[in-house]
Amino acid sequence: MEEFFDPQWGSATLGVRAAEPRSENREHSAALSLTSSYVYRSAAQAAAVFSGAEPGYIYSRFTNPTTEAFEKRLAAMEAGASCVATASGMAAILTLCLSLLKQGDHIVSSRGLFGSTIGLFNNFLAKFGISVSYVDLTDLAAWEAAVQPNTRLLFAETPTNPLVEIADIRALADIAHRRGALLCVDNCFLTPVLQQPLKLGADFVIHSATKYIDGQGRCIGGAIVGDAERVGKDVFGFMRTAGPCMSPFNAWVFLKGLETLAVRMKAHCENAHGLAEWLSEQPTVKRVFYPGLATHPQHELARRQQSGFGGVLAFEVEGGREAAWKVVDATRLISITANLGDTRTTITHPATTTHARISAEAREQAGIGEGLLRVAVGLEDLKDLSGDLARGLKF
Ligand SMILES: *Cc1c(COP(=O)(O)O)cnc(C)c1O
Repeated sequence: MEEFFDPQWGSATLGVRAAEPRSENREHSAALSLTSSYVYRSAAQAAAVFSGAEPGYIYSRFTNPTTEAFEKRLAAMEAGASCVATASGMAAILTLCLSLLKQGDHIVSSRGLFGSTIGLFNNFLAKFGISVSYVDLTDLAAWEAAVQPNTRLLFAETPTNPLVEIADIRALADIAHRRGALLCVDNCFLTPVLQQPLKLGADFVIHSATKYIDGQGRCIGGAIVGDAERVGKDVFGFMRTAGPCMSPFNAWVFLKGLETLAVRMKAHCENAHGLAEWLSEQPTVKRVFYPGLATHPQHELARRQQSGFGGVLAFEVEGGREAAWKVVDATRLISITANLGDTRTTITHPATTTHARISAEAREQAGIGEGLLRVAVGLEDLKDLSGDLARGLKF
């Protein structure tokens, strides 16, 4: 492992250079260590490594050179001391909750969460006596009011899906810390290239590496980043015992993904911004939701807190579900799927897919109308994307 890197490097440099794994063969590009276990030269050396007296790898459930390189590089990019890679983004959230929380603890979370996160909180953590209160992401007074004496964790996703609302991370961290709780931010939509929640006071960052970190829709993975005590010891300890670990093969793919993350995110942002502006000019489009537009309610906050506006946008068409479905069905290039963070642009109708299981009333309340479409903008040429949407937007 080439341990040296300068934490002051920019995210592009850290993504390419931080924690490059290098064996005695001096390979230039990271090798893939597909091994479940490791051999020792003697009984004494085995004992020393197992006891921790001597550094070394033990078993790939919790120590693998490729996975370790991915963890160290992502930690460097997020400005965190420690990172633990997990089998998926959901495994990251589960792992954090199970290592941090105990029976009787309480979570305050934003309402507009990734669907499986809500399912995990409501259906599974609840079985172990952990309760959750949901609040509006942007209503700081509601966050404050929802904190109870047993609140241990504040959990926020910013920007949200699909309306790309923005939470004030520093303000949430202040509320958490004043009340003896910790803040976790799901940074999947922006990646450390565009937002570094730990620098804004968050205690944990969660990733679904499945999205932009892979960036090409191949592997499932996740990560938790934070300090050396809670993540380096507590979360790592849970991983070592419970084992929701990342495959070394996936870690190798994600490591390669980090090398191009900065340049890809820039291109995603440029395309999304261009498409948002183009959509704003279309007569059949009622409203466009993109933090880069001056019309976005948290535009100023996004400018302050992020170094880019991200690759996801939403827009509402005149004519409800029928008109929205027409736009989806008229596409030839854009993929009809709910995935995001891919080179390929995707389109989804939230009201009948990702948000179909919540009541129509709750959907309307959350602003997810029948005419709303979400686009996760990929890396194709902007003119081809607008051309693909234009077909279905005509009267
Ligand atoms: C996809 C996603 C997750 C879950 O990640 P998986 O890798 O699919 O388990 C969590 N949060 C957000 C915001 C996501 O988009």
